Amino acid sequence: MDRVIIIRYGEIFLKGKNKSYFESLLINNIKNSLKRYKFEFFRSQGRYIVGNYDINCEYEIIDSLKKVFGIYSLSVADRVETEYENGFAGVNESLKRLAMDAASDCLKPKPTFRMTVKRADKRIPMRSCEIAAFLADTVLKNTDFTVNLTYYDYEFFVDIRENGYSYVYSDVIYGSGGLPVGCSSKGMLLLSGGIDSPVAAYMMAKRGMKQVAVHFASPPYTSERATAKVAELRDIVDAYTAHMPLYVVPFTEIQLEIHEKCPAEFMITIMRRFMMRIATVLAKREGCTALVTGESLGQVASQTVESMTSTESCAGLPIFRPLIAFDKEETMALAQKIGTYETSIQPFEDCCTIFLPKNPSIHPNLKKVEEAERKLEIDELVKRAVEGTYKV
Ligand code: ATP
Ligand code: MG
Repeated sequence: MDRVIIIRYGEIFLKGKNKSYFESLLINNIKNSLKRYKFEFFRSQGRYIVGNYDINCEYEIIDSLKKVFGIYSLSVADRVETEYENGFAGVNESLKRLAMDAASDCLKPKPTFRMTVKRADKRIPMRSCEIAAFLADTVLKNTDFTVNLTYYDYEFFVDIRENGYSYVYSDVIYGSGGLPVGCSSKGMLLLSGGIDSPVAAYMMAKRGMKQVAVHFASPPYTSERATAKVAELRDIVDAYTAHMPLYVVPFTEIQLEIHEKCPAEFMITIMRRFMMRIATVLAKREGCTALVTGESLGQVASQTVESMTSTESCAGLPIFRPLIAFDKEETMALAQKIGTYETSIQPFEDCCTIFLPKNPSIHPNLKKVEEAERKLEIDELVKRAVEGTYKV
């Protein structure tokens, strides 16, 4: 008997001629997410199986797999010889143990169960429902459970495969769904140290987008710890994004120039326009075909329609804003789920919070912004910032 993890992937994206491409991405991402562990991986009729792993790492392995987009569900199962001629001896033994474990954990009086059997091995003459009735006897004999096919506390599954082996299990754990990262081109994520942008990374990864992150830092106004925090956020979301390289752009010179030469009310808008210009250059260099931000409509002055229109006109690529219609509470709940929240709320200064004007323009007029910007040597400033960019 082997203990294995069954991985089921969503069927939808596997239709059509891209099937093998999607599958190879998914397999790659699965293996990558488990690279810290020893295990064996094989395919079994429309599923993947992870076996021969250290049982002490099982919880961690499942936790990692739950974060791989494209996986629909998982089950920890016993892989046993079917032994049909021998009255399903192998299956029965495993089922007995599973049922007795469930019974000893169960506090409820008179628990109910159902038996669900799938029979791919057509050499066995009994039908699935007959096998289920036969196997249910094992549960009935060894526990005080009763059968209820509709309202049940436990469901025991037996998948009888064509190769003489069966999988016996009782729990189905849901995965993250979505599409395998890498199947929806590459985007450049503007990653701040805040709550929103790591969640934006998660959302785009869910639809299969591979991402590269860029962070704007303004030392000495922003500290090394602030940049370290951003790298930490990247490390946390990496479980979902299948690794996101991170670039840090020196932004101090640009901020000082804007502060000195442009009206305070346009400080944020002009600063964000620079972010878009620089991100576009870096994105093209990295082969990214879109930008991604954590903006949400109306959240702050820089996230009104007019402000976004004004920053967007400097981006040479489409901007995806997966959180545009999210309430802050919804984003915070997701941040908690993916594990970035506690790091995001650590109080470190962001380049956006320095030189913050008292009254930023909420509906900046594009012509006036462009006029104000003329005092700056835009191309030179962008070039120097790109040249100073480094990877962490
Ligand atoms: P976040 O929580 O992601 O910081 P926010 O609600 O604080 O977002 P802003 O500070 O206005 O909003 O930033 C909006 C978006 O601009 C962010 O989600 C992020 O994509 C990008 N951004 C802001 N500051 C930076 C930065 N220093 N480096 C990279 N991207 C940034
Ligand atoms: Mg922010």
